[in-house]
Amino acid sequence: MRTILTTALLLLLTLSAVNVVAAEKVKVYSVEKGAYIMSEKVEKSESEWRNILTAEQFHVLREEGTEPAFSGKYHDHHGEGVYACAGCGLDLFSSEAKYDSGTGWPSFTEPIDKANIGTKKDRRLFTVRTEVHCVRCGGHLGHVFEDGPEPTGLRYCLNSAALQFEPLE
Ligand SMILES: [Zn+2]
Repeated sequence: MRTILTTALLLLLTLSAVNVVAAEKVKVYSVEKGAYIMSEKVEKSESEWRNILTAEQFHVLREEGTEPAFSGKYHDHHGEGVYACAGCGLDLFSSEAKYDSGTGWPSFTEPIDKANIGTKKDRRLFTVRTEVHCVRCGGHLGHVFEDGPEPTGLRYCLNSAALQFEPLE
């Protein structure tokens, strides 16, 4: 009987270990490493997200909310560094690509690497916009528009609440 229980327990442990190994991975660019790395996707329940995010961060990242213009901490923020995901810490945008769009939201011409973000069509507000999110945790960041400056002609219009600035050492 004891042997059967032990075997069952071992089987259970093995199965859960397999589960951990099977967690979906994404290829992303790491600024620190200066290279692409394989990183596990970050998946949390709603209550887990609520525990680690502020109410404002939760609203933007997990409910695709938009902070009021000129209200965030980064629209007029200058400094060299990386704007990482406030949900999972993934490197998303560099201060080198940041510019003053005058919109009241932090704006960038391009992400650190296209591999680090995802996009989808957003048909709310009676118009079609392109939504931008973090590829690792799925957190909503903002939208991308085609009225940005050269060289990309793109304007990544983001919410400060979705970002965490990390200054260059
Ligand atoms: Zn993220």
